[in-house]
Amino acid sequence: MTELISNFLGGRWQAGSGAGTPLFDPTLGTELVRVDATGLDLAAGFAFAREQGRAALQRLTYRERAAMLAAAVKVLQANRDAYYDIATANSGTVKNDSTVDIDGGIFTLGNYAKLGDSLGDRRFLLDGEMTRLGKEDLFQSQHVLTPTRGIALFINAFNFPSWGLWEKAAPALLSGVPVIVKPATTTAWLTQRMVQDVVEAGIFPAGALSVVCGSSAGLMDALQPFDVVSFTGSAETAAVIRSHPAVTQRSVRVNIEADSLNSALLLPGEAAGSAAFDLLVKEVVREMTVKSGQKCTAIRRVFVPEDLYGPVAEAIAARLSKTVVGNPRNETVRMGALVNRAQLASVREGLAHLQTQAELLHDGSTHALVDADPAVACCVGPTLLGARDADAADRIHDTEVFGPVATLMPYRHAASDMAHALTLVRRGHGSLVASLYGSDPAALAATALELADSHGRVHVISPDVAQLHTGHGNVMPQSLHGGPGRAGGGEELGGVRALNFYHRRSAVQASTAVLKTL
Ligand code: NAP
Repeated sequence: MTELISNFLGGRWQAGSGAGTPLFDPTLGTELVRVDATGLDLAAGFAFAREQGRAALQRLTYRERAAMLAAAVKVLQANRDAYYDIATANSGTVKNDSTVDIDGGIFTLGNYAKLGDSLGDRRFLLDGEMTRLGKEDLFQSQHVLTPTRGIALFINAFNFPSWGLWEKAAPALLSGVPVIVKPATTTAWLTQRMVQDVVEAGIFPAGALSVVCGSSAGLMDALQPFDVVSFTGSAETAAVIRSHPAVTQRSVRVNIEADSLNSALLLPGEAAGSAAFDLLVKEVVREMTVKSGQKCTAIRRVFVPEDLYGPVAEAIAARLSKTVVGNPRNETVRMGALVNRAQLASVREGLAHLQTQAELLHDGSTHALVDADPAVACCVGPTLLGARDADAADRIHDTEVFGPVATLMPYRHAASDMAHALTLVRRGHGSLVASLYGSDPAALAATALELADSHGRVHVISPDVAQLHTGHGNVMPQSLHGGPGRAGGGEELGGVRALNFYHRRSAVQASTAVLKTL
């Protein structure tokens, strides 16, 4: 039997009492470790974090907590090699893709350490200026943000076991709010190991950081009114979380990051082979293949002026055909495995569903697997679909295939009329990100503003930033992550804005003399 990895709750390591759920290597099919949360006293563990962890963290200033984040960065950096080994084995990712998760997480944590240091020796934040309430200045209102008196429960998706932990934990811990993370079972090992390393380094007070691996049963029941829950995952599970009594009756604040049909849009007036055209092609290919397309921000729908449908299809297909797929341990391989058999089946099923309304422009099944047994390995080649009638292709606008799959669609346009393209992009019903490609700054800016109300982020790529831009799918801690509507309606990151979720806003109404002492 493989090792049963432990949970850290209530300030101590606790093994589940069950046999455990095995975690697998998606390339080789071998069992790696087991996780189990059976029999844990969740109520007691949450109470410990809420009372001891919270009190200890909230005694400290932002600067002191920022120093702890910086210390955690050092510990994680020192153990990077072990994390890469786990990612290769359990997520089936090539080194570059593991970097997005592992180093992306550590970078985000480091970014919040710096930001927290700049908040100084305070224990709460002022929100805006004093506002006069009556005729005279003497009685005023000052809004304050104080850390919430609860814990933060993170229920995370399988695709970012490292980044998904740290992008949430950094602002929570900086705010003084204890963290309990429940990673997706399939890839829980990396999250568990990172928490273990940080806990063993003794950086944070007892109860500040806990991890529960295995079943989610009972976690939501353990939440109390001042707790918050941040969920990342599928729309179906999001609906379960939203309708839980903790949220509907106890007003637990909830942030949801769900799935998203993100778009890439080439503006009119860019010829085949132009710089903007090439930038779109390159970015689409990158987004389809990084982490085998298992990124919530990946480009799923590609919109181009109708006269460029053919040339764009050819250019993307030419690049995709060079993608070497297979065992992530082989140095020639650029794209590793999907995370498990269930995802492999789901991607195949999703592809078949989309293909009822789309043609095949590049067939992923033509990629022979390198160093991997097709009967065992959860690997698929990248597939580009095309839907010439974008209005009629409702499945393409509705179905997220969580793998290396994107669909190209043409839009109609008369001189500078973007109405059709914008209508098509908005059929995603709210997305995490859209990227725009073009060389006319005014047209790009106008289109970005048009799409801002239905996207958490609009990533604009013009030739002048070809070497500088951070990538359609890369989530930077300085910028907002989340999207309206179908994307879940959540907000994460965005620099200091991320702290809002972990604070309560309150208005203090008092004499100016009182408010000035705040
Ligand atoms: P999922 O099946 O919804 O699972 C997400 C998490 O919820 C897992 O930790 C899962 O635990 C847990 N869970 C399942 N049922 C639950 C319940 N009844 N109560 C509480 N928790 C429960 O999603 P996934 O397959 O891991 O992730 C893929 C999806 O996530 C994709 O649709 C993707 O677009 C989305 N995603 C979005 C973002 C974003 O930032 N917007 C980022 C990454 C992924 P178990 O693993 O133990 O079942």
